Amino acid sequence: MIRLETDLAEFANDIGEMIRAFLGQVEISPDEGERVFVHSHREDDGVWTETCRMDGREAVWRAPAVSGGLEEKRQKKRAVKTACFLVMREVTGGAPAWGSLTGIRPTRVLRELMDEGLPLARAQAEMARRFYVDDDKAALCGEIVTAQEGRLYPAPDEYDVYIGIPFCVTRCSYCAFAADVLGDGHMTGPYLDALLREMEAGSALVAGKRPRAVYVGGGTTTALSADQLGRLMDGIERIFPGCRELTVEAGRPDTITKEKLAAIARATRISVNPQSFSDETLRRIGRAHTAEDTLRGYDMARSAGFGDINMDLIAALPGEGLEDFRRTLEKVESLGPESVTVHTLAIKRSSRLHEEGYVQAPAQVASAMVDEARSSLGLAGYRPYYLYRQKYMAGNLENVGYAKPGYECLYNIGNMEETAPVLAFGAGSISKWLFQRERRIERAPNVRNVAEYIARVDEMVQRKRALIEEDGR
Ligand code: SF4
Repeated sequence: MIRLETDLAEFANDIGEMIRAFLGQVEISPDEGERVFVHSHREDDGVWTETCRMDGREAVWRAPAVSGGLEEKRQKKRAVKTACFLVMREVTGGAPAWGSLTGIRPTRVLRELMDEGLPLARAQAEMARRFYVDDDKAALCGEIVTAQEGRLYPAPDEYDVYIGIPFCVTRCSYCAFAADVLGDGHMTGPYLDALLREMEAGSALVAGKRPRAVYVGGGTTTALSADQLGRLMDGIERIFPGCRELTVEAGRPDTITKEKLAAIARATRISVNPQSFSDETLRRIGRAHTAEDTLRGYDMARSAGFGDINMDLIAALPGEGLEDFRRTLEKVESLGPESVTVHTLAIKRSSRLHEEGYVQAPAQVASAMVDEARSSLGLAGYRPYYLYRQKYMAGNLENVGYAKPGYECLYNIGNMEETAPVLAFGAGSISKWLFQRERRIERAPNVRNVAEYIARVDEMVQRKRALIEEDGR
């Protein structure tokens, strides 16, 4: 445990995140701890001085003081994090690949630098210099920004849609859904009724605007029956007609059947997720399907005529080494889905792995896997097109979506880059509305618990109404 003393309590979480980027999941407390981290802030003659100390090391960072509103907060936070990064580098003798970047989308940082007038290559170099990001990671952001060109923004009258199906058939050890959130089978009928009602009422709030990309995610969408999926797809077609993209995250291969594929045949894109092709690993993480199930699900989807299939993988799964991960990559590449998403294992607090006190794979192991994915998928014709980072990831790394050119998912880009407004439906989903003039984003979350959601669905619509009406004022 580390005791944190800071002059700027509003940045205690940011300092904590930076410490964890170096030391992993340590507890940080303002009151107790064997080791002590001290941060002090001073302002003299228009200059901020941030001083950080730990284990007898000290780092000082000075930056011109900025006064006023959000920009002051943003710049001050960056200055504090830089000092924190510098002292932790001294303490540990190493540095995370993403340098001092925590809690911000790396591609956004690169775009900000380009907005200052820097061409891409210079912006990448500046990102590496200002934020101590590895050159390789800055180059990854450069590739992604390039792949997103022309796909980043919807038209002014377009919006995206997320529809959440919070059900599953068993529970994986890394699953972030709390057991009382992931509903069990008997709630699916009433849930679908509530969901369709919310979609209908929610779409009326944006009458006159057009849906661009619709994404149906889980849980596991195919935990619904074929009839229920058919009802849902009929509803989507009726309520959001003419969308340019419709993704259904079928998810677990063992839940895919011919009947369910026929029910979602109107989807332009589906996801069949192996996570790993090692049966031993799948057993270890409680995924309750086999590599054979994945091959069967994938073949069925191809035979059913799906021409745009995504596969999700996870690097640094418990017990896996580089060779296991390499075999999974080879298998995926031999199948040739149109896109592959490579996640790095994140141990969320609500997961069983967290409860069991699982310790993440060392950063070098996770890092070797994501590097292998990048080079191997690159050679196989895929290019990275979106990236995001989460808390509690192995090696403090990233999740990257790769696609063959022309198969980049619009919803993923708009959602991850926060360039598209998203109307979200279902338990636990979060609508995001962009206020272009003020350059801010506001969110309207739905309740997470399935029974609560069903009981309070009209209130979920009202939350969206408040969000959208604020935009009109
Ligand atoms: S398949 Fe997905 S939703 Fe189901 S338990 Fe595993 S991680 Fe959770």
